[in-house]
Amino acid sequence: MALDGLPPLREVIRQHGLDARKALGQNFLLDLNLTSKIARSAGDLSQTTVFEVGPGPGGLTRALLMNSARRVVAVERDERCLPALAEIAAHYPGRLEIISGDALKTDWAALAGGKPAKIVANLPYNIGTELLVRWLTVEPWPPFFESLTLMFQREVAQRIVASPDGDAYGRLAVLAGWRTDARIMFDVPPQAFTPPPKVTSSVVHLIPRAEPLPVSARLLGRVTEAAFGQRRKMLRQSLKPLGGEALLAKVGIDPTRRAETLSIEEFVALAQAL
Ligand code: SAM
Repeated sequence: MALDGLPPLREVIRQHGLDARKALGQNFLLDLNLTSKIARSAGDLSQTTVFEVGPGPGGLTRALLMNSARRVVAVERDERCLPALAEIAAHYPGRLEIISGDALKTDWAALAGGKPAKIVANLPYNIGTELLVRWLTVEPWPPFFESLTLMFQREVAQRIVASPDGDAYGRLAVLAGWRTDARIMFDVPPQAFTPPPKVTSSVVHLIPRAEPLPVSARLLGRVTEAAFGQRRKMLRQSLKPLGGEALLAKVGIDPTRRAETLSIEEFVALAQAL
């Protein structure tokens, strides 16, 4: 038995035949010390509902429940995992709800129903960025979640927290930095997963800003898409379809600068001027 009185995860995987499937981004975490560290990174969970994407065999789910999560709602696409997850739900009566479905088709705000919620997940890598962008562009803002604590490939994590002037700085950093305070909590080596992925991963913690600069996410997206779509070109060239030099003059930005030198505030000013 593990610390929580449930069978060890290796045993759960064997018993339920949960061999990992690449197409579903399945890299499982079997060490409850590590999943507890992720759960603790999300702060106090005792007053909130925790949404988890892809509980799989339930390693992180169990850590969330052990770390006093008031309630966990987990959405899993792989039906093979449901019996294993039902055993955890039975062990923690009334605290775990499993939804069999696709995280991309889930209406998370509706699930939260206006009550405090946090999102914690070891995301399937193939849909991680898409989910993050959806959560960062949700309306209204402040959003339905108090924080996001998410595992990404380290390269993606670095793109989320990047500052201007680096190679990692791009659309994701502008979006994340505009609406949240984002930081990398710690790295997780490939060997921590079963099966091990090819690259190192990182846990990122994002806290929504109460009052981000006022601009529409759609317009900010248009400016960053154009600017970073041709990131080696000068802005007067890359922003031509949006007004080029005239647009840059409106906000007093030197047209010979390149996208990666612009601060988030400058991107917001350009989007406001559109
Ligand atoms: N939480 C488990 C852990 O930490 O060991 C599993 C994490 S694994 C990286 C990703 C999980 O997401 C898998 O269980 C996979 O089946 C599930 N998944 C993949 N695509 C999904 C989707 N579109 N919606 C919901 N779950 C999905």
